[in-house]
Amino acid sequence: MAILKVARLGHPVLRQAAKPVPSGEITSPSIQRLIDDMIDTMHEYDGVGIAAPQVHQSWQLAVIEVAHNPRYPQAPEIPLTVLINPEITARSETTRTGWEGCLSVEGLRGQVPRSEQLSARWLDRKGRPVQAEVQGFFAVVIQHEVDHLQGRVYLDRMADLTTLTHLQEYERFWLRPDEPEDD
Ligand SMILES: [Zn+2]
Repeated sequence: MAILKVARLGHPVLRQAAKPVPSGEITSPSIQRLIDDMIDTMHEYDGVGIAAPQVHQSWQLAVIEVAHNPRYPQAPEIPLTVLINPEITARSETTRTGWEGCLSVEGLRGQVPRSEQLSARWLDRKGRPVQAEVQGFFAVVIQHEVDHLQGRVYLDRMADLTTLTHLQEYERFWLRPDEPEDD
């Protein structure tokens, strides 16, 4: 069990396309330990997801979980999900624009348009294939994490950079308590 160091924007590992995890290595002690450490690191920093490149490991691997999260108090719950070699196979034309932050882009939030629904497939931590139709906040988080595995961050997806804000100013000027945060 370990809390891993998080790569920050500017580190080249965040801009590289990650390698697929060979199926024979998924259950290896080193990949299983990396998954456990990524889960611990996500919990430590109150992330809703973290991708392996964010912990300096250029593998197509990400973990997602939303229990009660102080960084995203209004986010619906998402069970712990391990995505290995994920692929988005279809995306809806309809998009939703919501606030995103990133552990590698510390202290900032910005509005990002994302597909409302998607189809995806991946392998779980035992190497079993998963196929899922996903919508809403879960779909947003999958798109954010899959972007990391392709060397992209949410800033690349923003349609309007004038919404980019520091967290303190986000709370002061942008957050409306009567408005769901991710709508
Ligand atoms: Zn991120």
